[in-house]
Amino acid sequence: MKDISTTAIHGGEAEPRIEGSVTMPVFQSATYEFRGGAANDSEANYIDIKYSRLNNTPNHLVLNKKLALLEQGEAGLVLGSGMAAVSTTALALLSNGDHVVAQKTLYGATMSFFKKDLARFGISCDFADEGDLEKHIGNNTKMIYAESISNPLMEVPDFGAVTALAKKHGLISVIDNTFATPVNFRPLSVGFDLTLHSATKYLNGHSDVIAGCVVGSKKLIDKINNMAVHLGGTLDPHACSLLHRGLKTLSVRVERQNQSAIKIAEHLSRHAKIKAVKYPGLESHASFKNAKKYFYGFGGMMSFDLKNPGAVGKFISTLKLPIHAPSLGGVESLVIQPARSSHASLTPGERQKSGIGDGLIRLSIGLEHTDDLIQDLDQALAQI
Ligand code: PLP
Repeated sequence: MKDISTTAIHGGEAEPRIEGSVTMPVFQSATYEFRGGAANDSEANYIDIKYSRLNNTPNHLVLNKKLALLEQGEAGLVLGSGMAAVSTTALALLSNGDHVVAQKTLYGATMSFFKKDLARFGISCDFADEGDLEKHIGNNTKMIYAESISNPLMEVPDFGAVTALAKKHGLISVIDNTFATPVNFRPLSVGFDLTLHSATKYLNGHSDVIAGCVVGSKKLIDKINNMAVHLGGTLDPHACSLLHRGLKTLSVRVERQNQSAIKIAEHLSRHAKIKAVKYPGLESHASFKNAKKYFYGFGGMMSFDLKNPGAVGKFISTLKLPIHAPSLGGVESLVIQPARSSHASLTPGERQKSGIGDGLIRLSIGLEHTDDLIQDLDQALAQI
């Protein structure tokens, strides 16, 4: 098997190259000439229809294959956003009366989708600490859902224990691998049935596309694609092409972000104005053991608590390099206060229970030089 850096470039590419083109051309066509039979043939085979919403144009097909190879799955499906990947997967595999058991803290929109939207269709969900997941599994539980690195506390579950639980109870196991990326972790290799992403983040890597994907067995992906075709959350061919380009540099970007983030996390953890740094690569982090066991690298995401929570606004506005913006995984470092952004929809009580205080800051390390980022963080800390 080739290294992931080679797969990111050559995996799934069109063979032979289209007109010899080194890069995949953009097929900016919504529809394609019908070639399933003669126009006057009433028995014509409409299965051969090619249409952008069906996710079967040349740009979709190449991308689906590359994504599957990167996550080492049988089949892949690119979608219009990370939330399209989450919602389409859930709606394809769950029915009225089914139950989901999920990790305690998930990305905010995923959490409210599971809690509020799915409830309207008679699908219930329990969120539980890792050690308590089994207690919440009942006769109607159909799916177990986790994130490879939770947002914003960077917790890493014991994936082997989660998939063992899924096998024991016959559940479909789904993981959001956005934060870790397939460079640092490949969930299907530890027994997850499906791995999904907000491809808006590291997979694309340039903060210029909203996209998502899901990878797993052909049987499950076909089911999800059938639902995707009805929900309509497809990705436009031009956006497919941008994501395709971003994927080629995935491995170099993530490796550099891994190297930079560990140095920055160590530096911040020694700073007098910082209470605690949450980074899975730090021995002080509760998830260090799991991260070391399962990950090839610890990722580019971290969060930290200022000793003075009242200084968060001043600190963020004094930074010169990280941009104050939601999202993550791009070439430019981004910073947010989770209590006011990704987790603003939770009640203060829910946030407190989840360990998300007002003094918590989340940092996505970009590709700026590590020393420049450290210098910038230090100057902002000096001013609070
Ligand atoms: N999953 C995770 C872990 C995320 O952080 C996000 C967005 O921030 C999503 C899913 C949703 O992705 P998108 O914004 O591409 O719909």
